[in-house]
Amino acid sequence: MSFSPPPRTRFAPSPTGYLHIGGVRTALFSWLHARRHGGVFVLRIEDTDRERSTEASVNVILEGMRWLDLGWDEGPYFQTRRFDRYREILERLLEEGKAYRCYCSRERLETLRAGQMARKEKPRYDGLCRDRRDPPPEGAAHVVRFRNPADGVVMVDDLIRGRVAFQNRELDDLIIARADGTPTYNFTVVVDDHDMGITHVIRGDDHLNNTPRQINILRALEAQPPVYAHVPMILGPDGKRLSKRHGAVSVLQYRDEGYLPEALLNYLVRLGWSHGDQEVFSREEMIRLFDIREVNKAASIFNPDKLLWLNQHYLKTLEPAVVARHLAWHLQRLDLDPAAGPPLEEVVLAQRERAKTLQEMARNSAFLFREPEGYDEKAADKHLGEAQRPILTALRAALAELDPWTPEAVHATVGGVAEAAGLKLGKVAQPLRVALTGGTVSPPIDVTVYLLGRDRTLARIARALGAGPGAGRSGVTH
Ligand code: GLU
Repeated sequence: MSFSPPPRTRFAPSPTGYLHIGGVRTALFSWLHARRHGGVFVLRIEDTDRERSTEASVNVILEGMRWLDLGWDEGPYFQTRRFDRYREILERLLEEGKAYRCYCSRERLETLRAGQMARKEKPRYDGLCRDRRDPPPEGAAHVVRFRNPADGVVMVDDLIRGRVAFQNRELDDLIIARADGTPTYNFTVVVDDHDMGITHVIRGDDHLNNTPRQINILRALEAQPPVYAHVPMILGPDGKRLSKRHGAVSVLQYRDEGYLPEALLNYLVRLGWSHGDQEVFSREEMIRLFDIREVNKAASIFNPDKLLWLNQHYLKTLEPAVVARHLAWHLQRLDLDPAAGPPLEEVVLAQRERAKTLQEMARNSAFLFREPEGYDEKAADKHLGEAQRPILTALRAALAELDPWTPEAVHATVGGVAEAAGLKLGKVAQPLRVALTGGTVSPPIDVTVYLLGRDRTLARIARALGAGPGAGRSGVTH
């Protein structure tokens, strides 16, 4: 039996915008691969593009990863802090003749390219400086190019795509350092993957064409290339690459809209991977069952309805204490104080059947944390008129005496008031609901009253009685 050391995988985002859910899916796959095999997951921030990289984007990445609880074991490493190391390797490649300085001017390269295009050839560097013997032009700026092997084939045994062959003659002598000396993407990735001992590069398949170049550079460094797995793209329902046009693509936007991290991760793991017909996976199950080799070659289509379904599933089935922590965050976003109402776990239990998102749950629960600003106009006209005054008065008196304060006892009281007035329960419950919440939608009336507590219940009924008919139009006066 051959022994393979635990894998080391990485997520290497460029901090140039939001954290895209496609990127997070590859992060999840890398994380799962490391976790499943007892390996190490590295986070590396590829911030060498200084024009486009921002600290805000770095924070968005870290925040998104933390929110999803995709913990990294090493890093975050920042490429901008590794320039000395890249320079060192660059010098080494130059000394060994595996890279060379190219003095070709921009004009020359443009003319070359235009000619190739006109002849319908693939535009590529013609290698003028590759074998340059004469001294370089005085004072000319130079880039550094990698001396790519002129012939032969680079085989990539991709865990998802299978074997893909690239002809070296199709590959350019890649620029690995710009005229200002800064290293380019394909070079920094190689140095990092090598230095960080990455064994499995799991990334988007938009990088597949970079892979043979990176393998060639690794070989020039006498390093063993890692194993690659290129994950296909996510498409929108219209078959085009998933983008803002299709709705939210940023992880934090999903958080803000009230999705649970469990739902998003579960949704993403099933996007391009399956295990029989199982749809719901706990984190532990994902770790146990996920196999990168089983990821589909074909692109997957994003289905927002399924994500919403999963979100609802997790709202209903996760430990209320877990959901409560997220609910607290959403209440705060609505400027509500989570401590100013009933215990959040009870709120979750009361609300989770009728909310698809945490945002909806927070909005529906606002009345428990803050006096409603006014009454829904139609509801007030219908349920808070003169006709309802005796009912509300009777309810107030009965609830003032209620002991113990439990949903069951509230239920019996409301039922008793209805019976005494000869009314159906709804004719009593609905005015009470409007008085307490400002609208007509809330958990069952006994739970609503119970959660609101005696003091607030009595105060709000009094306020509704004071507001009288037409409260919806005029708002509430204290
Ligand atoms: N920084 C690259 C990107 O965000 C990823 C590079 C890689 O995974 O090799 O597209």
